[in-house]
Amino acid sequence: MMIPQDKIDEIRERVNIVDIVADYVQLKKSGKNHIGLCPFHSEKTPSFTVNDEKQIFYCFGCSTGGNAFTFLMKQENLSFPEAIRTIAKRVGIDLSLPDKKISGEGNQRELMFLANHAAQDFFHQYLLTSPAAEPARQYIRKRGLKPEIVKGFKIGFAPQGRDNLAKFFEKKGISLEIAEKAGLINRGERDFYDRFRNRIMFPIADVKNRVVGFGGRAMGNEEPKYLNSPTSPLFKKGEVVYGIYQARTAASNKGFVLVVEGYFDLLMLHQYGFLNSVATLGTALTAHHIRKLKGYAKEVYTLFDSDEAGKAAALKSLPLFIEEDMHARVVLIPTGLDPDDLLQKQGAQGMAQYIEKAKPVMDFFLDCLRIKFDGETPSSKISFLEEAAPYVVSMKNAATRDIYVEKIADILHIRPDAVLSTVRAAAEPLSGKSRVRHAPTTNEIISTGDSIKAEELILKIVLAHPHLHDESVDKAIEMFKTDFLREAGRLIINALRKKTAAGDSCGKADLSALIDSSNDDKAKAWLLKTSVEDDDSVKEEPKRILEDCCRKVMMASRLKKETSLLLKKLEEAEKSGDMNSFRSLSDSYLSMKRINKLQNKS
Ligand SMILES: [Zn+2]
Repeated sequence: MMIPQDKIDEIRERVNIVDIVADYVQLKKSGKNHIGLCPFHSEKTPSFTVNDEKQIFYCFGCSTGGNAFTFLMKQENLSFPEAIRTIAKRVGIDLSLPDKKISGEGNQRELMFLANHAAQDFFHQYLLTSPAAEPARQYIRKRGLKPEIVKGFKIGFAPQGRDNLAKFFEKKGISLEIAEKAGLINRGERDFYDRFRNRIMFPIADVKNRVVGFGGRAMGNEEPKYLNSPTSPLFKKGEVVYGIYQARTAASNKGFVLVVEGYFDLLMLHQYGFLNSVATLGTALTAHHIRKLKGYAKEVYTLFDSDEAGKAAALKSLPLFIEEDMHARVVLIPTGLDPDDLLQKQGAQGMAQYIEKAKPVMDFFLDCLRIKFDGETPSSKISFLEEAAPYVVSMKNAATRDIYVEKIADILHIRPDAVLSTVRAAAEPLSGKSRVRHAPTTNEIISTGDSIKAEELILKIVLAHPHLHDESVDKAIEMFKTDFLREAGRLIINALRKKTAAGDSCGKADLSALIDSSNDDKAKAWLLKTSVEDDDSVKEEPKRILEDCCRKVMMASRLKKETSLLLKKLEEAEKSGDMNSFRSLSDSYLSMKRINKLQNKS
């Protein structure tokens, strides 16, 4: 199903990328740009840049960049049409679908969301109203959940019986194939049957309150006690964060997010007013979780039982937080109590006490080492250092690293520089090889070849001063040595021509539209980086500089041609044994090469 180009253009004109990004990243105004922490790589100092005027974003850390559409595609894992539809909805442009049949992956995802949504309503209504759900209602009361939490989180009940939901879908005209893909029903030999039966249902929503999957708790003794949706294009167990929609605002206001592992723990925390809480689906935190949470809070607090297993689990999370460069604290609650139990026994105040005592996870680790090694004898000091070293070495923030070097020196009564040298010598970083490798940055892509400078300058000047663009610029661009700059140049020229054709003779190239029209990632990265950078080099005498650069590029290209021609003749002379021509040709070749070098340098 194609979305007409004029609609896409209309959406592009109406959307503001800053609004879209602000849903996921805390942005601060900085000069012409907005900056924030990149959602696509780990960082502590913001290098993620959004430009309001040009409607693009670019990260100086990982070179990811694009427009509002690209951002949503990456952030939400959407296809291009899906991103367009999402934004269309937001800016109030009607893309009514002439045909509701399933076509294309994007539409399938939307239909899966619809099926999930319908299932959520079905389960919820069933829990609230059906006489058959009385045992479930009793169970929920017994667990102490209040009606407003049941409503706020749309908790439901999946009835006993083989195919209640499947029948409901049939009646509603919802495709059973789609419902199967969403993991709501299974395909039997002859028909479809419900995946979740006789279970309390917890819909799991993403940050936009779209239902991505479900968790179902068995009412009886069935195994498993908790059944989740299977992995689907919408649902990945190790990545989803339960309660993120309800918690996002509070987390952002408080600056930290509380993480627990279970549905009931999470719901209880919300019931007792800890609105900045989320849960993993019974699993330990993953890097995916942390990256998701990064957009909403600066710090993660994880709750653990204070028994040995709980402490071990807390320590296990340390490398992850260090790798992801995320501040984290450990909240230790009394042994044998779930967060749920603790709240019911000691109330919000009791919980708040433990949260207040939360320790940075690295300090907690050092405490554990202090217990393990007394740190008094030289050999115990060294053992202490050896265990701590990999963590300290892996810290990405130099200031934090220094703080911990000092702390360790203090604990062991040795000099900080002694700690530092031992740490450096003893330590392999935590995940030396496995560390997330980023795509090469644009700075790396743009190797420092000198002829590139002239080519870059030409493009920068044309971008900033479109009225200077003329045929000689076009010619020069076609002679660029650097492939991705040539491609970038072509993109710019095309965009400018479009503007001129539309009667806008000195309009600037529309970058946001331009980057959708190319598949050359290097060219796009260069364009995006250039447009968010403040560059003074093109402000004075742009016309003269442009002419100089064009001349230089043409000269270089001509030289290159002549050089290769010479080289050919040289080879022929060598073959035919004509030593006289060979000598004179090789002289010319060498001087040509020298000129070439000079050209590139100037
Ligand atoms: Zn980045």
